[in-house]
Amino acid sequence: MSRPQQITVLGATGSIGLSTLDVIARHPGRYQVFALTGFSRLAELEVLCLQHRPRYAVVPDAAAARHLQEGLIAAGLSTRVLSGEAGLCAVASDPAVDAVMAAIVGAAGLKPTLAAVEAGKKVLLANKEALVMSGALFMQAVRKSGAVLLPIDSEHNAIFQCLPVDYAHGLARSGVRRILLTASGGPFRETPLPALAQVSPEQACAHPNWSMGRKISVDSASMMNKGLELIEACWLFDAQPDQVEVVIHPQSVIHSLVDYVDGSVLAQLGNPDMRTPISHALAWPERIDSGVAPLDLFTIARLDFLPPDESRFPCLRLARQAAEAGGTVPAMLNAANEVAVAAFLERRIRFTEIASIITEVLNLEAAGEAGSLEAVLAADRRARILAEQWLERHGR
Ligand code: NAD
Ligand code: MG
Repeated sequence: MSRPQQITVLGATGSIGLSTLDVIARHPGRYQVFALTGFSRLAELEVLCLQHRPRYAVVPDAAAARHLQEGLIAAGLSTRVLSGEAGLCAVASDPAVDAVMAAIVGAAGLKPTLAAVEAGKKVLLANKEALVMSGALFMQAVRKSGAVLLPIDSEHNAIFQCLPVDYAHGLARSGVRRILLTASGGPFRETPLPALAQVSPEQACAHPNWSMGRKISVDSASMMNKGLELIEACWLFDAQPDQVEVVIHPQSVIHSLVDYVDGSVLAQLGNPDMRTPISHALAWPERIDSGVAPLDLFTIARLDFLPPDESRFPCLRLARQAAEAGGTVPAMLNAANEVAVAAFLERRIRFTEIASIITEVLNLEAAGEAGSLEAVLAADRRARILAEQWLERHGR
């Protein structure tokens, strides 16, 4: 029997990280945890280390590393604890690693994810922000290293499953007319528009179909998540923004569709549980049990579809404009959104002000070329400063 594949889980303490570990634990002969990383909830990271006995663990700083190291030694584990971005990049690119789950949230995941790509790993991409920020560079690095990039976002995983194997030769050559990216519409799909200014972080994080981290939950409520996914789809599948249509599908059973020129439309369906795309990508091109219940079409009974309303969801329009503008604009959109979402979660701004902040940042800052990582990171920093200035000027 072949040796178990060595897996690094970046962002192991998060929603995707935990679902990944759930799948891995179902297949002990097939996968072994090489490294686990966490940024907060370090007591939980320690418990995960005891369960999965990784070769490495990574925490934010040296003090946290000493603390965790002592705890693990006391428990009789030989796990080595590293810290900071250098530690994350090391466990993402270690020669002994076969696959890396990139599940850190936000721009913080960019460098470790890129390190995995540059090392030619099998990269399971949940951290969409990394690709949104650095799309051209990221995809160039994939081509250069021969990394195998597999989408974890349920929509992109669905699209990947519905495309022909040689789709990289071009969507048009594959006979693809358009990609239909489904969206649940989130918790505020039917909230009266004037009430949107009053919604709380708790309401925004109460997603009707998915249980996720707080940042992506707010993004789903504003539909910025779908906007980021539109940009993500353009890079992953070499599509133009106008080839990607967003369809509101409140049940989250169809995870996306591909529309072909002959009138065929292929869809991937399943219960809304991230262990399905995680298992698909982990085992690809094989299939393994994920622990997800079989889909019961008779219980679901009906599937609804609606066009998105951009007056309700201005973030979706902003993201489409950023996709069309290209260059550093998606990185600025993402950075402004990260600052605005954090401020909303801290109750410093209203939900509707997320879009106001992003609009202002994109209006103030000229677009640039995203030709180097330095240019991307500079655009990210500049957008964060402008977003912070908005907060200061409005006394938040
Ligand atoms: P989460 O908040 O539950 O977990 C985030 C993880 O990142 C945690 O392990 C946290 O410790 C780590 N982290 C946070 N800040 C960090 C930093 N500065 N440096 C290093 N590590 C840091 O988030 P999540 O819901 O698991 O989402 C993770 C990523 O997956 C996001 O990019 C999200 O958009 C994407 N995604 C999530 C889902 C989902 O269902 N949760 C679905 C599709 C895509
Ligand atoms: Mg998604």
